[in-house]
Amino acid sequence: MAEKVLVVGGGGREHALAWKLAQSEQIQQVLVAPGNAGTADCGKISNSEVSVSNHTILAQFCKDHHVGLVVVGPEVPLAAGIVDDLTAAGVRCFGPSAKAAQLEASKSYSKAFMERHGIPTARYGSFTDAEEACKYIRTADFPALVVKASGLAAGKGVIVAKDQDEACRAVMDIMKDRAFGCAGDTVVVEELLEGEEVSCLCFSDGSSVSAMPPAQDHKRLQDGDLGPNTGGMGAYCPTPQVSQELLQQIKETVLQKTVDGMKEDGAPYVGVLYAGLMLTNQGLKVLEFNCRFGDPECQVLLPLLKSDLYDVILNTMNGKLASSAPVWHQDSSAVTVVMASEGYPGSYQKGVQITGLSQVQDSGVQVFHAGTALKDGGVVSSGGRVLTVTAVSSSLEAALQAANQGVAAVGFPGAVYRRDIGHRAIAHLNQHRGLTYKD
Ligand code: AMP
Repeated sequence: MAEKVLVVGGGGREHALAWKLAQSEQIQQVLVAPGNAGTADCGKISNSEVSVSNHTILAQFCKDHHVGLVVVGPEVPLAAGIVDDLTAAGVRCFGPSAKAAQLEASKSYSKAFMERHGIPTARYGSFTDAEEACKYIRTADFPALVVKASGLAAGKGVIVAKDQDEACRAVMDIMKDRAFGCAGDTVVVEELLEGEEVSCLCFSDGSSVSAMPPAQDHKRLQDGDLGPNTGGMGAYCPTPQVSQELLQQIKETVLQKTVDGMKEDGAPYVGVLYAGLMLTNQGLKVLEFNCRFGDPECQVLLPLLKSDLYDVILNTMNGKLASSAPVWHQDSSAVTVVMASEGYPGSYQKGVQITGLSQVQDSGVQVFHAGTALKDGGVVSSGGRVLTVTAVSSSLEAALQAANQGVAAVGFPGAVYRRDIGHRAIAHLNQHRGLTYKD
């Protein structure tokens, strides 16, 4: 019998998950809670108002509505134990347990884990006392420092300090002024790493891993990697800077080692594991783990997944990754460009009318909605990141061109977006072709 699936979340990542799941012939209906305008009554996909924070209500809803699988997009419900609670209630739920999700939810846990299992990462100290943290900063034998709130802070709890004074001020902001609430009860102070950042994700069934193609996010607001940090302004995949050999090395020394370590520590990791890596002159180092797909990386990974996502999830949950690994489209590249509200990542206006959505959908690009809502029969903005426009093509350059054309065709007043997604890859490719990249 065809299955009913519920996706938890309401961003571009969750629209992409619902879109890919809806392509499965085994799936009859995809509910998204809370979803957005893009997941409201779109073919097999529709929104649900069920509470996702009350796991008892959610489990009962799934039973009443014959939902056979719950797929969780964001980290907060995973850290809150949604998988543990739904599984205990007899509802299948895809993602790591709360214990395994600590890899993302506690940076102090993940740093100690990496140290214990010999996974390469920046040198660090972890503190529950502000004065101790400052003492460490003043005496550390590495000059530049990064200060991090240990808990979940919606990607905002990391301060790259230019000197010791700034690092100590960051500690005070986090621990004394509680800039990130209880996420800052513990701080991690670590060595600043330099190099290129890449996102390497895998499916993990608790024992085996299956690496996805490498991707790269663009965290800064403006072209040329300038301006403030954001939740991500665009991504592309695959990343040619990560060769097959390097990907194999990442798989062995980071992804598989992490999954082996979690098993050894009594917290088997089942779900999507995301390693944020810095490729430094001293080799690769893990910056962070996430316990789910990245947003916007998800919007470039899923369009390149050839396999049925529903099958992939079931194989992952059933410990069958080693015998049936997911298949990816080869010789294709995907680019996604995020369109954000004017003022983002600071304050911004909501309720701004969006136009051109149906025309752009016909032009071959895929628009994944993020902060959007339906109003008076139209679509309006309702968040900082509003849309992600994804294109797939035979080359990165062609995919970027198509995504940029898509961005030009949809519109809302004050939209902020980058035009140079993938610029590092294009420079890398040109260097290998003997050309120099000019913007
Ligand atoms: P995290 O949440 O730990 O990944 O940090 C968010 C972002 O801060 C990363 O994506 C990096 O851009 C930056 N970052 C974190 N740790 C470091 C580090 N040790 N050195 C340089 N940049 C870092």
